[in-house]
Amino acid sequence: MKVRKSKGPFRQCIACREVRQKGELLRFVRVSTRMVTFDLRGRMPGRGAYICPDAACFIKAEKRASFQKALGVPVVASDLLSDVLKTLTEDLLKRIFFYRARGEVVEGEYALYKAKPGDLVLFSGEIHRRRIKEMRQEGIDVLEIPLGHYADLGSQDLLCVSNVKEDSWLYKDVMRIGMLSSGGLNS
Ligand SMILES: [Zn+2]
Repeated sequence: MKVRKSKGPFRQCIACREVRQKGELLRFVRVSTRMVTFDLRGRMPGRGAYICPDAACFIKAEKRASFQKALGVPVVASDLLSDVLKTLTEDLLKRIFFYRARGEVVEGEYALYKAKPGDLVLFSGEIHRRRIKEMRQEGIDVLEIPLGHYADLGSQDLLCVSNVKEDSWLYKDVMRIGMLSSGGLNS
């Protein structure tokens, strides 16, 4: 993955304290004295707090009550993580359908042979490990995400999406879901 060169604005993760570009972090907004919500596009008005899109930072935040300290709302970080995954998954699904409507999605095993550099291949489960390794060597982005959760995709555990730009929301959703799912709070 290429790193974009654009600079700032920068924000600090409430859990690990690392300073990163605002767009790389997840933003949460205080909605009331008892409620905090995930701000998918990072544009909602109100007092906000930023955290890395990383399950480890949610674990840290839970231990250190970081959300409570930053926003003054007693929330459970693991609940927020579930909300984020749900929101990102719904958003990703919407975007996949949009690409599908343009004829840019190949589903099922055929996706393994249609994929070319520049495509994004999504899969779940212990499948086709050898071919997946080959595709990565060919420079195709191949990412494992829990596709099985997406009832609307039927039983597909494999998708190839064409023409996905690295600064697109679909790409961003996939990256975030991947980071938040690995070694999460439930493991
Ligand atoms: Zn962090």
